[in-house]
Amino acid sequence: MPHDHHDHDHPEHSELSPIELRVRALESILVEKGYVDPAAVDAIIQTYETEIGPHRGARVVAMAWSDPAFADWLKQDATAAIASLGYSGRQGEHMAALFNTDTLHNMVVCTLCSCYPWTVLGLPPVWYKAPPYRARAIKEPRAVLAEFGLTLPATTEVRVWDSTAEMRYLVVPQRPKGTERWSEEKLAGLVTRDSMIGTGLARAAQ
Ligand code: FE
Repeated sequence: MPHDHHDHDHPEHSELSPIELRVRALESILVEKGYVDPAAVDAIIQTYETEIGPHRGARVVAMAWSDPAFADWLKQDATAAIASLGYSGRQGEHMAALFNTDTLHNMVVCTLCSCYPWTVLGLPPVWYKAPPYRARAIKEPRAVLAEFGLTLPATTEVRVWDSTAEMRYLVVPQRPKGTERWSEEKLAGLVTRDSMIGTGLARAAQ
């Protein structure tokens, strides 16, 4: 009987995309050959889903807004300042913080692939890894920002930074007005992931 893998159902796979199926197949082979321990893989995924994420970057930004000495340190040596909060490790070995001002807006891309500051933002969003964002961010940043719902005054310079394996960037958005007496914890709630990539601003104070 000729084999056709489409002629019967795989209910356990029916919800998976072709890429997910390939990943699943690759994982099975690696596990079968003893190259990876499925428990270790699960632990890494669990870590990036729950412990590591944009809430870390938000804490860094809120601290920079609240503490001028920390802000200075972050400007001078972002890797060390961020590591002082316990945020260090893969894809965060060399960090730079980019401070937005009234006249300068920073935006981050990786034109080559998908370099991203995992230690403070977790895993990158799908659009960050997608060819359209990577191709257009440098060529037409204002058009890209408009698609994210962000239109900046013509007087604001938009500076686009291309991430590499050597350097990852964290944008420090401007502190929203009317938050002078806010605690760091409350401030952190205004710091969105996109504001730390530069495709958004921090949320306005309510
Ligand atoms: Fe990359």
